[in-house]
Amino acid sequence: MNDVILLPEVRDFLSRGHAHFIGGEFRSGASGHRIPVFDPATGEVLAHVASADPRDIDAAVSSAKAAYHGAWAQTLPYQRGVILNRFADILEQNGEGLAQLESVCSGKSIHLSRAFEVGQSAMFLRYYAGWATKINGETMTPSFPSIAGERYTAFTRREPVGVVAGIVPWNFSVMIAIWKIASALVTGCTVVIKPSEFTPFTLLRIAELAIDAGVPAGAFNVLNGDGTVGQGLIAHPDISKVSFTGSVPTGLAVGSSAMLANLTRVTLELGGKNAAALLEDVDVDQAVAGLVQTGYVHQGQVCAAPERVYVHRSRLDEVMGKVSAALAGLKIGSPLDESVQFGPLSNRAHFEKICHYFEIARKEGRIICGGKALGGPGYFVEPTAVLAGSPADRLLHEETFGPILCFLPFDSDEELLQLLNDSPYGLAASLWTNDLSKALRMVPRIEAGTVWINMHTFLDPAVPFGGIKKSGTGREFGTAFIDDYTELKSVMIRY
Ligand code: NDP
Repeated sequence: MNDVILLPEVRDFLSRGHAHFIGGEFRSGASGHRIPVFDPATGEVLAHVASADPRDIDAAVSSAKAAYHGAWAQTLPYQRGVILNRFADILEQNGEGLAQLESVCSGKSIHLSRAFEVGQSAMFLRYYAGWATKINGETMTPSFPSIAGERYTAFTRREPVGVVAGIVPWNFSVMIAIWKIASALVTGCTVVIKPSEFTPFTLLRIAELAIDAGVPAGAFNVLNGDGTVGQGLIAHPDISKVSFTGSVPTGLAVGSSAMLANLTRVTLELGGKNAAALLEDVDVDQAVAGLVQTGYVHQGQVCAAPERVYVHRSRLDEVMGKVSAALAGLKIGSPLDESVQFGPLSNRAHFEKICHYFEIARKEGRIICGGKALGGPGYFVEPTAVLAGSPADRLLHEETFGPILCFLPFDSDEELLQLLNDSPYGLAASLWTNDLSKALRMVPRIEAGTVWINMHTFLDPAVPFGGIKKSGTGREFGTAFIDDYTELKSVMIRY
């Protein structure tokens, strides 16, 4: 074991009682009900966290509403940008402690926690900070003729929607929350975030840091608990928008609850069964390196990760050989060990789900490598590659959200396009080829929110990200987020 030594601040944080962050301070839950949080590397209880009840939900939303009409409304756009930039700096200054806390709770490798949960979160915050002074409406010239000879002019204003409920999953509990927090704060909204019950701690620490950065008390609140807390939050009459990231079944429930509650606007970033296609001329070394990196990072628990891989039949043996060799070389172990590349799954329920998919893989296809849980404590499984028995195999259609890539050969481009689109999901896809002309002709025919060429799972704040079909509705990043977090008000003037 070469685990990094946990910083005293991380040990201290874990030993505290945890509940919610409301109105700029930690608050214990009203009911006293607490739920255990497990260390995925050992399966042991790490700490407990309170589960919010309706009184806590009401307190958090009231505090966000007061800040929305009060301190945050009085913070000018330029100042909002300064505060978000300072928030990014403070996040980085406290980065090692945050990364350790996140790795302990989620099983994410310490490298990934440092680079993504801290590093990329800070970069995203700075990107959004840049928008603070650039969110504007338009002027327009009304075109209908007037009988009395008067003239009209008109303009639009972008106004914050109000209090946002952000509900985030356990796989990137910091970064995905930061997308929502930054989008809300920069547009003038305030926010209540509900992390997953499996990864509740890091956001509590981040809420504390936000106060140090100058985010006014109440503008950013954290409510802990299970799915019922998310449900209660959505139903609250003072929530104006829900931004949800999670699975398709929960997303459907969230979307319908929001509509029923108050016609509340919703952004849904849901699951995927993302395809990668390796065309006949593929550079196999480049593609295999890319697939192994993006398919198995964080044990495959990445929404945009490739899960089904279509390979031109002429290159299949070469691809499978190189994938097997690469997977055999991955070092499996503690997420806090800097030499480890592959850690545990994040929670027991997910571990059981992945073991179930190993059985399905054995029945329907051929396991090329991996395919087993590892003995001992913790939720460890092997990185796995499967050759599908037929295009109907469940592993080509159902999201596992785990380290299982399922491969299938294809013979023609038309067949490939059919296979790529044969999915209820439409989050992301990648094409691996040097024939850019062919790739660009395929792009409009691929049913996915993002198509990458010779790369996979590359998220940049300037490039909108989101799904089509059952993978969701709405977009994060780019300019697209502005539509989702602001109301467009029209003003007309007669003269
Ligand atoms: P879930 O849908 O189970 O949960 C997501 C969040 O919703 C959690 O905080 C959960 O709380 C909460 N929740 C559960 N039930 C309800 C409810 N009825 N009402 C409101 N909130 C509820 O997803 P997972 O956490 O298991 O995350 C994995 C899924 O997320 C995968 O399908 C993955 O593809 C998707 N995902 C999509 C991304 C995208 O950008 N498109 C990015 C990352 C992940 P609790 O955990 O406490 O039950």
